[in-house]
Amino acid sequence: MNSSEKHIMHITYFDLLLKRACYQLLVVLSFFIALSLVSGDVCYCFSLEEDSAGYEKLRYEMVEKQIAARGIRDENVLRAMRNVPRHLFVSEKRRGSAYGDFPLSIGYGQTISQPYIVALMTELLKPGKDDVALEVGTGSGYQAAVLSEIVKEVYTIEIIPPLGRAAEKRLKELAYENITVKVGDGYYGWEEYGPFDCIVVTAASDHIPPPLIKQLKKGGKMAIPVGRPFLVQHLMLVERSEHGDIQTRSILPVRFVPFRREWK
Ligand code: SAH
Repeated sequence: MNSSEKHIMHITYFDLLLKRACYQLLVVLSFFIALSLVSGDVCYCFSLEEDSAGYEKLRYEMVEKQIAARGIRDENVLRAMRNVPRHLFVSEKRRGSAYGDFPLSIGYGQTISQPYIVALMTELLKPGKDDVALEVGTGSGYQAAVLSEIVKEVYTIEIIPPLGRAAEKRLKELAYENITVKVGDGYYGWEEYGPFDCIVVTAASDHIPPPLIKQLKKGGKMAIPVGRPFLVQHLMLVERSEHGDIQTRSILPVRFVPFRREWK
């Protein structure tokens, strides 16, 4: 082999190496491009699914550990608490703690009650599928949504206009079609749609508003926290018998935001 042949061999060998390196690089690059595209898509699907599946898992745990474990037995109530996406009733930054064993702030100094209290108040009403319910204190709309999963119709009143309007919008977006929201003072109830099978009041009043008692159907039940703000309050169950007389029973001490008569 003369020197020029050696040179050609050298170039050919070098060429071969270069080609192989380029090919390998191309393979590696396309692998990474494909991976990033695929993983981008997959991650996107996963993270969305993981989110709702993740929240659903938290909700099931909430029902098991905080609600069923404390003695709530009504299957309709347990089902409703498993169904309603509590995390969508609070601001985005609070979603992560939406299934904790505590009340949640919803702005304007107001709160959604602890999950167990929502479940307990709902169970006390013994709601049925043909019932018409009134709620005083819409807040986020969460309690109304829970009730609406069980009864035929829910009417709910909120005294703070921006809260009432936001709840109305949220409930519409979540397709709760059997809930009607009104902004106003719930002290007077909602005579137009009464009398009601169930009434739930989610703010503590120092007395039971007489118009609410009047709008309670025979055989109907009302759950209401009674007591002064920041002092001991009691969750009361008010029942109107089939004969029309009223019985009141104290269930447990609670702490609710105050029932107010106006909002400036
Ligand atoms: N049930 C709500 C909890 C809201 S906290 C939920 O699930 O999110 C109690 C609510 O009662 C507050 O939003 C407060 O503004 C409202 N409220 C207080 N007094 C009221 C009144 N007289 N009429 C209507 N709403 C009242």
